[in-house]
Amino acid sequence: MKSIWLKNPLAILGDRAGGGPVIRGGRIVELVASGQQPEAKPDEVFDASRHVVLPGLINTHHHFYQTLTRAHPQAINKELFNWLKALYPLWARLTPEAMRLGTRLALTELLMSGVTTTSDHHYVFPAGLDDAMDIQVDEALKLGMRMTVARGSMNLSVKDGGLPPDSVVQDEDTILSDCERVIAKYHQRGEGAQIQVALAPCSPFSVTQSLMCACGELAAKHDCRLHTHLAETHDEDEFCRARFGFSPVDYLEEVGWLNGRTWLAHGIHFSNGEIGRLAKNGVSVCHCPTSNMVLASGHCRTQELEKAGVAVGLGVDGSASNDNSNLMEEVHHALLMNRLKYGQSVTHLNVLRWATQGSAKCLGRSDIGEIAVGKQADLALYTLDELRFSGAGDPIAALVLCGAHKADRVMIGGEWRVIHGMPIGINVERLRFDHGEAAKRFL
Ligand SMILES: [Zn+2]
Repeated sequence: MKSIWLKNPLAILGDRAGGGPVIRGGRIVELVASGQQPEAKPDEVFDASRHVVLPGLINTHHHFYQTLTRAHPQAINKELFNWLKALYPLWARLTPEAMRLGTRLALTELLMSGVTTTSDHHYVFPAGLDDAMDIQVDEALKLGMRMTVARGSMNLSVKDGGLPPDSVVQDEDTILSDCERVIAKYHQRGEGAQIQVALAPCSPFSVTQSLMCACGELAAKHDCRLHTHLAETHDEDEFCRARFGFSPVDYLEEVGWLNGRTWLAHGIHFSNGEIGRLAKNGVSVCHCPTSNMVLASGHCRTQELEKAGVAVGLGVDGSASNDNSNLMEEVHHALLMNRLKYGQSVTHLNVLRWATQGSAKCLGRSDIGEIAVGKQADLALYTLDELRFSGAGDPIAALVLCGAHKADRVMIGGEWRVIHGMPIGINVERLRFDHGEAAKRFL
């Protein structure tokens, strides 16, 4: 196995790693201290003197297909429930080809921003889109990215008191049998996994209690993770109390989800007592600052959650609410939003930790999210050559404060997947054209 030394980076987010990491067999095998040489002569040396090296970023909440309905005239300037009601009927037009292009575009955007592992929560299954999960896995493998495909679902439509129309929901048996199929086909366990499967009923207002319970049992049986939207808006809180007689956290407990398999998207409206219960039971939270600001949903209580012991990760959320898929931009927004509430106690290092180690915990992984010996060689390398960085003192702080949004190089499992800012194996101009054409059917 060949080794490569990323020699003497401009800066690196890792302890005693100033001389750069040595990579072999897809993993980090040595961290060289500043001014030192690797223990054994590496086969290849990459001059990293222009690069700021971060652990590959990890995105823990998204809806790739929503790239097809960005800034949609019928949805802009609405809060969550009305935003959803405007978009559901349009999303019912999703075809396998549009799904493929939406997935490829989102993955490419994420990768170019420095993401090495992502999750996607796909819950819209109109007739004919039975292989949505297969399309996603195929596209992630082509780009060489790690992905947790979250097999989403909706089975509570308007006629039964839910929010979505009939055209986008499935019945419980269909959903559960496809969950089993996808787990059996794609779910990898253990270190270095490229594809994992999570079960992800969409939200309290679009899924029955029975489906939540069944997915919880299935996840325990197959050792996979559970994901859903929770405590995103006051509307949701009111819906839960009116329909189930519970708060969203009580509901989570009632359906058997208050455990260490679960990571929640948003997690905004929790009381102190509820935060304590999430911590005690090992539930983690994906913070989605941009989406929360765009939809005016509120502010995730990141500091209270972390202080209690809840792992906090970061997610860009769907492209119809963000409206882009750039996790470095999300890091910038996370800092600004949290500063506004918590002041200087939230630093650039905190928000970078959410996008790496915190997100890894959300996905239940200990092999990624950090630059340390034994971890997977998933790295994002940025240069400070653009005008926006000129004059910057602290290189790592500069990435966050000056607003880095494009990695110069990205390595996943020891393989370069982005070189000179361009993803390997993707014609970006062609993708932009094809995706733009596919999006026209949603207008
Ligand atoms: Zn979402």
